[in-house]
Amino acid sequence: MSEEKSLNFLEEIIEEDLKNNTHQGRVHTRFPPEPNGYLHIGHAKSICVNFGLAQKYNGKCNLRFDDTNPSTEETAYVESIKTDIEWLGFKWDHEYYTSDYFGTLYQYAQQLILKGLAYVDDSTAEEMATLKGTPTTVGVNSPYRNRSIEENAQLFEEMRAGKYPDGAKVLRAKIDMKHDNMLMRDPVIYRIKHAHHHRTGDAWCIYPMYDFAHGQSDSIEEITHSICTMEFIPHRELYDWLIEKLEIFPSHQYEFARGNVSYMVTSKRRLLQLVKENHVAGWDDPRMPTISGLRRRGYTPASIRTFWEHVGVAKRDNTIDINLLEFYIREELNKVALRRMAVLDPIKLIINNLDEHESISLQAENNHEVENAGERTISFSKNLWIERDDFMENPPNKYFRLGPGLKVRLKHAFIIACTHFTKDQNGQITEVYADYYPESKSGQDTSGIKVKGVIHWLDASSAKQAEVRLYDRLFTVEDPTSETGDFKDYINPNSLTIIQNAWIEPALTSASLEDKFQFLRLGYFCKDRNSTNEHIIFNRTVGLKDSWAKEVKKG
Ligand code: ATP
Ligand code: MG
Repeated sequence: MSEEKSLNFLEEIIEEDLKNNTHQGRVHTRFPPEPNGYLHIGHAKSICVNFGLAQKYNGKCNLRFDDTNPSTEETAYVESIKTDIEWLGFKWDHEYYTSDYFGTLYQYAQQLILKGLAYVDDSTAEEMATLKGTPTTVGVNSPYRNRSIEENAQLFEEMRAGKYPDGAKVLRAKIDMKHDNMLMRDPVIYRIKHAHHHRTGDAWCIYPMYDFAHGQSDSIEEITHSICTMEFIPHRELYDWLIEKLEIFPSHQYEFARGNVSYMVTSKRRLLQLVKENHVAGWDDPRMPTISGLRRRGYTPASIRTFWEHVGVAKRDNTIDINLLEFYIREELNKVALRRMAVLDPIKLIINNLDEHESISLQAENNHEVENAGERTISFSKNLWIERDDFMENPPNKYFRLGPGLKVRLKHAFIIACTHFTKDQNGQITEVYADYYPESKSGQDTSGIKVKGVIHWLDASSAKQAEVRLYDRLFTVEDPTSETGDFKDYINPNSLTIIQNAWIEPALTSASLEDKFQFLRLGYFCKDRNSTNEHIIFNRTVGLKDSWAKEVKKG
């Protein structure tokens, strides 16, 4: 590709550092998820940025589980996070856990105490909040702020030994209660929590706060570029202060805009609610914006990477139109998906001029978009399935599908002319009858008959029954979290349509979960992981409509 892409601001920073030989030319990033839920589309952006920069600059990227909160973390989440990162196509250089650093972090806290830069505070949370002041009024020193170094060291040791109940005491950094940045007003760096941790068990009853763990872990791993999202900007001052006072490796924090996508909620806490309250069928429900949900829906890793690559990194928060994500998956599936036929709402089409046991073999191309995609053999016989809405009893002008006296082409097969139809007592069409023109075979048509419409169909004698699940957006508004009331009030009640009696080509029964298909005129589909030989299930990834293509080409 000759296309010259300009550098994004993170690349500019890194290239400047490389030029100045900062960190001896090393680039070392990390992706630091908290294992308290499954990864979502927003995390994919952070993964692409962190792993992507390491790749581009021959650096390294660690996977660090930020597991400092014992009550919300689970080993199952750790496993899902690893699966999702690998599926996205990235490999971490080291796998670390902040909990592995609990011993070192404890020593760092002791060092701050010995330098007179931390103290134990017995105030209640309410008292501390009151003394903290507000963004427009300065804070007031805690009555415990002037404890001696010896007393602080002793109390902190007792906290660690389990002498005090939850909330009785905290350790705070001694900075400045009048600081403009509220986070610098003597932030809490350790709290007491008698809770079982998923990795350290009951070894600890005090746990470091995010701000005291994150930057220090970066230093321990000698991370050169610690990249996070914009909401951490106010934390950077504290990040730098702690590293400076502890005289440890000078990691630096850089912030970029979160990735938000319209009609999707990107917050593990909220996604957990959807799962716990059974609004969806689990973290990997194909309507979920999780990586595992997108995977089950039929998204490919490349389409997600390309999407975030196209969006780029910037410092301004914005929401990306979900249509853009759908554009990239369509673009890829158009190239890789095998074309197949399926009928979702069937009516019988009977060919008058074929005998019951006659069957004609036809060749159907797998994908005309790519060379060498090959062909498959399909059969044509007396009893066929077509879509109910491809037939109209009283068709208007310019209806180019089937109706009494109308002609249409059956894809990969013949032109047919409708002769008559039958109805049941409710007025429902039951059967449609047509003659076929033997000399109109696709690719070898000598009939001279011109038709405008082409419809898909299946041979009823070989078609297999399947369940097909069609999805719509999970929410009815672009950003359900910014609306009044609860975000769950905006769940789309029609986000899932289950079709029990669809028909599919027989070849689809042996499809693997990774295979991608285009069902002609219906969209892109993949097999669901709950599919069995007896009960085949297909998920629609996305429809065929592509109103976004023009916008993207315009740039
Ligand atoms: P959530 O609110 O969903 O729990 P989080 O930021 O608390 O998100 P973490 O597990 O702490 O989740 O995130 C790991 C990394 O992913 C962090 O560096 C975080 O900044 C980044 N990240 C999370 N959400 C997004 C997003 N929407 N866009 C870009 N990066 C994100
Ligand atoms: Mg977090």
